[in-house]
Amino acid sequence: MASEITRSDSALPENVADSSPAYSALTVLECSRCSAGPYDAGQIQGTCSCGAPLLARYDLAAAASWTGPKEIATRPPSLWRYHELLPTSSAKSVVSFGEGMTPLLPMERLGAELGVPRLLMKDESPLPTGSFKARGAAVGVSRAAELGAAGVALPTNGNAGSAWAAYAARAGLPCLAVMPTDAPEITRAECMAAGAETYLTDGLINDAGRLVRAAVAGRPGYLDASTLREPYRLEGKKTIGLEIAEQLGWRVPDVIIFPTGGGVGLVGIAKGLRELQELGWIGEALPRMVAVQAAGCAPIVRAFEYQADTTEPWADARTEAFGLTVPDPLGGFLVLEAIRATGGTAVAVTDEQLIASQRQAARAEGTWVCPEGAACFTAIQQLRATGWLTPNDEVVVVNTGAGLKYPQTMPTHPPLIPADGTIPSGAEAPMPEA
Ligand SMILES: [Zn+2]
Repeated sequence: MASEITRSDSALPENVADSSPAYSALTVLECSRCSAGPYDAGQIQGTCSCGAPLLARYDLAAAASWTGPKEIATRPPSLWRYHELLPTSSAKSVVSFGEGMTPLLPMERLGAELGVPRLLMKDESPLPTGSFKARGAAVGVSRAAELGAAGVALPTNGNAGSAWAAYAARAGLPCLAVMPTDAPEITRAECMAAGAETYLTDGLINDAGRLVRAAVAGRPGYLDASTLREPYRLEGKKTIGLEIAEQLGWRVPDVIIFPTGGGVGLVGIAKGLRELQELGWIGEALPRMVAVQAAGCAPIVRAFEYQADTTEPWADARTEAFGLTVPDPLGGFLVLEAIRATGGTAVAVTDEQLIASQRQAARAEGTWVCPEGAACFTAIQQLRATGWLTPNDEVVVVNTGAGLKYPQTMPTHPPLIPADGTIPSGAEAPMPEA
């Protein structure tokens, strides 16, 4: 298959398996839906001619002969420790702030409260720009720059914009970001601080996407880096799954719960874990994947409940968990496929519930998670109530970002004590504001 492909200068050796170890085992791009292609991975590519996302494929047999868990353990603690399974062809092409290997935290107190004592949280808040979007941006920008893109452009609900703007600046590439006016305000500042050409729109992310596509059409060499409209953001996100497996000693948990807007994180984790299976580094079982959405924008949950294979656009999308405001995800069918293939499920939670969960998590564990991450804890409550989750399940929640980016989600009016006043005695101290 690979020999039929015309490769550009930056492509990998003709027969990766026969060569000495290379930095990447990337071979071709394949359509996620139809049999068109394969597509040349050595050139900038968008979606398949059928409109579906392209997926990066690797020579995993070669990768398994080049490296293994033991050697990977000796590498620096960043997502680039899995470079054979990432698309950049050399270490020189890597654009990095040292992202990856985020903590997998035991949540004993919160787990006991929620009835899942074996609760762990993959905490993405320490990543550069404060969210899991840094993974997709690190890999996407590195590969875009390596392949000679003139610039990157994307619609964003905020955090992807901050991440791509920062990595693009570090790569010396121009970045164009378009975000809804309701996106977290700090993300505007982050885009502008990194010198991105930043625009607001009074629509939602799909409207921003249309604006970006039209702009890119008039800018030769610009990459449309919208969710799943280029193949490599997904490759960055899959490293969440690779890290969870490595951090558990090369095995998987029973359940992974992921807040789902565009769905790249969940699809990426499933892809990464399947690659690890093929490499022989983990066993046969995959975790049951759970997609969590906000009740105000739940196209994937609705499709899952109707047993549909594709999503329909959600009207009047609205939620405090702004990252979940994706009314018409391009990769909805891939999310549905991943949750069905793993025996998973999809859950919608209300804003009121997820804000309560956010405060509960902060009180119990000291972690101020983002509203999207908090939605996963509400989902646990629902899934325990129905018996879908049991106390024996080892559950990993992915907290996709820092609560600090959403200051309006916490109370900020503690009692004011006059400078010459007195703080109440312990017994009379007010309860924390709920
Ligand atoms: Zn196709």
